[in-house]
Amino acid sequence: MSAITLYARETAGFEDRVANALAVLQRAAAEHPGQIVQATSLGAEDMVITDLIARHQLPIAIGTLQTGMLHAETTALIPAIEARYGLDVEVYEPAHESVITFVRKNGERAMYDSIELRKSCCAIRKLEPLSRMLQSRSAWVTGMRREQSNDRGTVAFSELDDKGRTKFNPLADWSWADVWQYIASHAVPYNPLHDQFFPSIGCAPCTRAIAVGEDFRSGRWWWEAEGAKECGLHVHGASTDTSAQVSMIGSHA
Ligand code: SF4
Repeated sequence: MSAITLYARETAGFEDRVANALAVLQRAAAEHPGQIVQATSLGAEDMVITDLIARHQLPIAIGTLQTGMLHAETTALIPAIEARYGLDVEVYEPAHESVITFVRKNGERAMYDSIELRKSCCAIRKLEPLSRMLQSRSAWVTGMRREQSNDRGTVAFSELDDKGRTKFNPLADWSWADVWQYIASHAVPYNPLHDQFFPSIGCAPCTRAIAVGEDFRSGRWWWEAEGAKECGLHVHGASTDTSAQVSMIGSHA
């Protein structure tokens, strides 16, 4: 059964949430001309955001992290985006020497050995390439939603990251049903792994399918305690939602 059949559902306020997400992106592009990038994980939420950016021709670059550990189905979305939307996707890879040294010292399966080694792997394969993606930018866009986990329950539509950049989260108040309703309505390309009960897709060794009733992010780093389940990409800062933004958002936050 496809993810669209399973999850897409139009609920009250859906059109308002779509309009608000677009408003957040328009504001983001206007406030950070030439200095903003969507850091896409190529997951369902990020595909929605890329579609909004392309559909409304917003001047927001698209960048992704090729960790070297992604599923083939995930990597295939890069040319799919370029073909569908005519947009270039910036691809950031880890420093080759750092990966070789880490694997030589700790092995291919080091992420299962300790949280420290797992976080070191994420630092090499994700955080350092992300820092290159963001180094000339003052803002970025993510697909974070409050519903994704307890840790993300207070995600704001815009906030400062730990480096003082503005991070925009236009889907902060979207439900999983909203994401799939948008994908269905606009025929957005998506990762076929979502059809196999992978709600949250990261690197292949660190992602698994979930069972009915399991928590949304329980398929990520499932061998670790709940509190450790972030890779360090999303370090919270202060909310920067403006009053104008909040007034629009308030009805469904
Ligand atoms: S998610 Fe797993 S494979 Fe990917 S960078 Fe982190 S530890 Fe390494």
